[in-house]
Amino acid sequence: TEHIEHLEFQAETHQLLELMIHSVYSNKDTFLRELVSNASDALDKLRLETFRDKDLHADTSDLHIELEVDRDARVLTVRDNGIGMSRAEVVDLIGTLAKSGTAALRKQLLEAKAGDQQAEELIGQFGIGFYSTFMVADKVTLVTRKAGETTGTRWESEAGSPTYTIEELAEAPQGTSVSLHLKPSDDEDHLFDYTQEWKLREIVKKYSDFIAWPIRMDVERTVMEGEGEDKTEKTLVETQTLNSQKALWTRPRSEVSDEEYKEFYKHVSHAWDDPLEIIPMKAEGTFEYQALLFIPSHAPFDLFTREHKRGVQLYVRRVFIMDNCEELMPEYLRFVKGVVDAQDLSLNVSREILQQDRQIQMIRKRLVKKVLSTVKDLRGAEDKTKYWEFWKEFGRVLKEGLLSDPDNRETILAVSAFASTHSDSEQTSLAEYVERMPESQSAIYYMTGESRQQIENSPHIEAFQAKGIEVLVLTDPVDEMWVGSVTEFEGKPIVSIAKGEVDLESEDEKKESEALREQQEKDFAEVLTWLQQTLDADVKEVRLTNRLTTSPACIVGDVFDFTPMLERMYRASGQ
Ligand code: ADP
Ligand code: MG
Repeated sequence: TEHIEHLEFQAETHQLLELMIHSVYSNKDTFLRELVSNASDALDKLRLETFRDKDLHADTSDLHIELEVDRDARVLTVRDNGIGMSRAEVVDLIGTLAKSGTAALRKQLLEAKAGDQQAEELIGQFGIGFYSTFMVADKVTLVTRKAGETTGTRWESEAGSPTYTIEELAEAPQGTSVSLHLKPSDDEDHLFDYTQEWKLREIVKKYSDFIAWPIRMDVERTVMEGEGEDKTEKTLVETQTLNSQKALWTRPRSEVSDEEYKEFYKHVSHAWDDPLEIIPMKAEGTFEYQALLFIPSHAPFDLFTREHKRGVQLYVRRVFIMDNCEELMPEYLRFVKGVVDAQDLSLNVSREILQQDRQIQMIRKRLVKKVLSTVKDLRGAEDKTKYWEFWKEFGRVLKEGLLSDPDNRETILAVSAFASTHSDSEQTSLAEYVERMPESQSAIYYMTGESRQQIENSPHIEAFQAKGIEVLVLTDPVDEMWVGSVTEFEGKPIVSIAKGEVDLESEDEKKESEALREQQEKDFAEVLTWLQQTLDADVKEVRLTNRLTTSPACIVGDVFDFTPMLERMYRASGQ
């Protein structure tokens, strides 16, 4: 009809769709997990919305997800009666790539060729969600009506087309249905035939068993009727619920398989990778709660952008309350995903209340301790592979806690790793550094800078290298922030080699050099005076030093001055 509008996908979105269509992504079954996951989110949102807004006209009497198969037409429909989407939301959420990504990732995406390794990795990183339907469908039709609204929206796109159509519907059932016009099944064994009842049953069981809402399907059953000669076969249709609906976090760890945990992780985190660590928690007593936390194996690409949301969901007695509950996880642990289910909160709880709530504060404290102790265990393990994976992905974020979480500073310091002059390739813990310190060395030395090369070439480091004293090489921007407030580790001061007087000599050496120094002071008195006068406007003091070996001079800051890099950062930001 004339009301059908043709709209274009964003360039990246179209490219992503192309990749999906030609994807050899190893596991096409995952499209159903994504649709069910979206449907489940939509039902959660509706329940919450009706709770908050008593005037919302919505039917919540039988919230569920439904699979429907038309075997002859080869159409599979996934339907929910959840919150639905307005027309604008369909265009926004479905028509464009919601997670717009960084410039670098966009570029990668536009360059990727369907079917190659890079494409697969991108798919995994993006966590394609809705678009994964194009792995199995030639055409996808979405019909939706937002709860409380009267008109609906129909969205449709064919695989490979740069456009989609959108149409207003005078009538539509509340919620969303997604119909997949399945590609012809080319495998003879029907292993990937998504019109097969057993196949759908298998996928739901495998990926979505824990979904709290019933996932229903009409199933045909053949029964015999009558007696003896009159016996006839009859086909009955019966609606079955395919999932057990058991919240995973309420089940003891011994009863849940790793596979189940992994699928749950993908659902709550909207991610496609596997978790690096699974952390089930249970607390009884005054503050009763259960939690199931995950440390992902890969950092999302937006971990350092403002949009990044903290990934812990809050439930109250099995009822979903909110995503990204910031009150439960500090910013520096924003990569942690999972759920916390609290017993004694009101279902009515708002963010404002949460901020004041003592129980939430207690829970948060324990979650933080538990996450940090998990990292500590990885660090202390015989096989440190997981620790290094963790550190590579999240070390820079965790170090933010050195500044923002003084209560846990010791633990964070203990699980942190730093580059140092001791090794070009391997990072060291502070404990290992201290172990290597010679008797005469009393401090832990570091230098911050933009790169290892810059630090190694700096004159500040010469005397340390000449004497074989190890220096931590700190090149992450976040290092600049915490070194100012973390002044010691296990009683050893942490000292910048770019600031103040650094005393590198033993007692014997001191006596020897004192005589030499006096002589030098006399010899160079005139030069020093001249330098001092000439540079008067720019420097506080000109003095002889024993810290240089090959460079003739270097500039040092006072103990309380900014480091050179921080000074540059401030200048760059116009302060
Ligand atoms: P994600 O779930 O990670 O946000 P998706 O691509 O799976 O990414 O979905 C994009 C968005 O589209 C969702 O965030 C949601 O807002 C909306 N959406 C998708 N499916 C549904 C649905 N069944 N009901 C309501 N909204 C939906
Ligand atoms: Mg999704």
